[in-house]
Amino acid sequence: MMRRLIIAIDGPSGAGKGTVARAVAARLGYRHVDTGAMYRAVAWKALQQGLDPRDEANVARIADSASFDLEQGRVRIDGHDVARAIRTPEIDAAAAAVARHPAVRRALVARQRLLGSGGGVVMEGRDIGTAVFPDADVKIYLDASPEERARRRAADPAHASSQGAQLTDVATALAARDKSDSTRAVSPLAIAPDAVVIDTTGTDIDETVQRVMEIVNWRLKTEG
Ligand code: C5P
Repeated sequence: MMRRLIIAIDGPSGAGKGTVARAVAARLGYRHVDTGAMYRAVAWKALQQGLDPRDEANVARIADSASFDLEQGRVRIDGHDVARAIRTPEIDAAAAAVARHPAVRRALVARQRLLGSGGGVVMEGRDIGTAVFPDADVKIYLDASPEERARRRAADPAHASSQGAQLTDVATALAARDKSDSTRAVSPLAIAPDAVVIDTTGTDIDETVQRVMEIVNWRLKTEG
């Protein structure tokens, strides 16, 4: 029987990680884990409890103790369906803030390792190939120009409140988040040395999925 791989897909917001990771997982019959949704759900719960996202100790308590359900596109935290509620500009900012805390990252990374350790998983995020699974079988880093990423985010129906927003506002918020993600002290957004970088600017998503599948199939073929 073919070994079930750990596939890491990292990159900034709007690079196409979600769509590509979902499609690759569906083709392989693997599980898709969106780790960004975990940071978002923790941020949602923190705001719900009236916490300041900068309050590391209390936010980390949520990350440690909450139950997550991320199966089949669901996003539930402690039984609350937050799939829609976490795609707002407020949560965009709060998630980036909670993701800066080492104690929050420790708690969520431990959970992510449990979810993926058996293989058969396509995990997307910012630090999957660098910190969560440094030995992942396949590492992809998706990127696109800031203009294209802002355009995609503004058109993304999942991000309901981005629709109709001024493109310049979306671009400004995206740039702020990029900066927060790539300058934080712990596990900043970075390209793993052994990742395959794919620039998705101007390419359609099927082409990118095809490229990733070729890399995966090559990896499966060269298995010892
Ligand atoms: O990918 P998404 O935009 O949903 O992620 C929300 C936020 O969660 C990001 O801005 C980033 O700060 C954080 N994140 C992270 N590490 C991950 C996934 C997401 O720090 N593996």
